[in-house]
Amino acid sequence: MILQLVNEQQANWNDSSLIDAIENILRAFSEKKHIVLASSFLFDNVKGNQKFSEKIRNTASVAKQYSRDFNALIKNNYVNSFIRIDLSKKNYFKELEDNGKKVLESGFGFFTDSFVTQNTSLIGEALDDSKFYVQIGDFYIRNNPILNKFALNYCSSNGGGCQTAKVYNDILQQKRLCYCIVDSDKKHSYINSHRGETCKAFFKKAGEFKETLFHQFGQVRILDVHEVESIIPFNILVKIVEDRERGEAQIKTIQRLYRMIEKGSDIRKYLDHKKGLTKQKAQELDKKYNKYYIPELNKLLGKNNKCFMHEDDENINCDDNCYSFAPMGNKLLTNSLEILKEKTIDKNEIDKITLPYWELIGKEIFSWCCCFKFPMKVS
Ligand SMILES: [Zn+2]
Repeated sequence: MILQLVNEQQANWNDSSLIDAIENILRAFSEKKHIVLASSFLFDNVKGNQKFSEKIRNTASVAKQYSRDFNALIKNNYVNSFIRIDLSKKNYFKELEDNGKKVLESGFGFFTDSFVTQNTSLIGEALDDSKFYVQIGDFYIRNNPILNKFALNYCSSNGGGCQTAKVYNDILQQKRLCYCIVDSDKKHSYINSHRGETCKAFFKKAGEFKETLFHQFGQVRILDVHEVESIIPFNILVKIVEDRERGEAQIKTIQRLYRMIEKGSDIRKYLDHKKGLTKQKAQELDKKYNKYYIPELNKLLGKNNKCFMHEDDENINCDDNCYSFAPMGNKLLTNSLEILKEKTIDKNEIDKITLPYWELIGKEIFSWCCCFKFPMKVS
């Protein structure tokens, strides 16, 4: 996370708690946990101030040297949130918007405790989910070459389904920075279709749903998709089915999903990849919410009132099976992680339904977990 220090000229430099806070913040920078951004005046002031240790004074020199790079992250919108620490105020907090970015503006008092300057906690619903989101963060850095001086520093925690909100709140109680990401379990595109308990636990009342929430130094992102498998890039799904599953029904499912993407359908967002979807189930869901699946499934229609796979085959009578998606098993995410480990994925390899999610999640993870990776000699 970028920690921007402001209002140093109005600060009371005789206050020892201010010295403690600045020391913690600069130490976090030297330990590659966060990035610190401040004016040359502040860094020079630290360098010449004997109240700081030699290591911290040297760290201030390094941070000053790279200020332009750090500033560019904010100026050129490579992050969508950062923390601004007002050194003239001790106990103060305000959440505000600045040029489309969320600014968590805080007094320095919170930073006198070194808990808050530990690396950011990254929470997913399960260990594989977190690993998958980290891959998306790495993808974001790779796809923006200007970020090659930066890396992610985080500490992963598991939520475990509906415990996720509790884990998140516990971490915030410990005054640690925290980014938490969960899926919504939505089975249908309808705006108020049922969402799962995991995401509901973040809201006190039904009907309060938001896709993202901030709580002081924490953010929750609720993906408006059924499950994390919904945002596995399509070509990775193909690779899993071709190399590891190889079932006929799964291969047909892949062909149908490909057709859906070609037709601009976002059905993968709500599809239960692990359990699949029958036409009958789709009809039930549409009856419960509103028309979505059946019009979407009609995109599988080809010529002669048959499905696109059988449109020229006179010997085959199409039935509901032509409009269904087979279960793709419970190992999809694990298999995806294995593939992502072997091969880095490029922006142009990600389908247009999935890419916006990768860009959003990548930017948010980078915002919360960014650190400067150049070796620093500060001893
Ligand atoms: Zn057919």
